[in-house]
Amino acid sequence: MTKEFTPDPVIEAGIEREFKPDEYQPLGKEVYVKAADMMSDKGYSEGYLGANIRARMKRENKRFWAGDNISDYLHESDKERLIDEAAEAFELVLDRLLIDRETDPNSKGTARRLAKMYFNEVMAGRYDPAPDATAFPNDSADRYEGMLVVRSELRSMCSHHHQPVSGVAYIGIIAAEKLIGLSKYTRIAQWCARRGTLQEELCNDIAREISKATESENVAVYVQAVHGCCENRGIMAHSSLTQTTVLKGAFKEDQGTKKEFFDNIKMQQEFAPR
Ligand SMILES: [Zn+2]
Repeated sequence: MTKEFTPDPVIEAGIEREFKPDEYQPLGKEVYVKAADMMSDKGYSEGYLGANIRARMKRENKRFWAGDNISDYLHESDKERLIDEAAEAFELVLDRLLIDRETDPNSKGTARRLAKMYFNEVMAGRYDPAPDATAFPNDSADRYEGMLVVRSELRSMCSHHHQPVSGVAYIGIIAAEKLIGLSKYTRIAQWCARRGTLQEELCNDIAREISKATESENVAVYVQAVHGCCENRGIMAHSSLTQTTVLKGAFKEDQGTKKEFFDNIKMQQEFAPR
């Protein structure tokens, strides 16, 4: 937490303001801004799409932490504008870091590269809707009733230091009435990972989303990852590994199921060492 909190002029003021449609124009998804302010150049003005989206989320008590998905609050087409706004802000960060982004050829386009990287890559899972995971029925007489374990490679970013996190998730489920395509497990896990995360939180998120997509209550997720914030700074540990496990339903209650899951992980690790 920062010690000093500066109230956001857009968010703190005028929420109850009278809405006169002809004075406003649309800016992003269900966001309207005074037409006059769109043109203004007074710094952090109402014309900033990002500021308006934040105001709307606050108003609606929508949590927008680094690990939260906020795709309901933006159109795909809003991204370009949000990237422009973030690029402008990253320029200021580089200036404050006393990096010459005017003559240093390697720093010239860095602000925009960072903005694009955040929206389209390292934090894409915040802005993109959940991957489409069509479920296939698994309810015939010869339905599959066993355990399924999928190994998913993950790249994430810690929300504390914005340092890279890389590792694998082993996702286990006991097949329920519905099955999803094998690649979908990894797509869902990666969608959860492409945000600012904590590994503990990520493990929970993957379990919840897999459970939602498969309608199975018997889900287990084991994640092992290395963290840039422990490797590149601080304790500079170059071979530290963090492991987290979430067990639900039979994986938690039945020792045999739990053991089968971890035996499967060992077999997977023989096939593909990390
Ligand atoms: Zn960190």
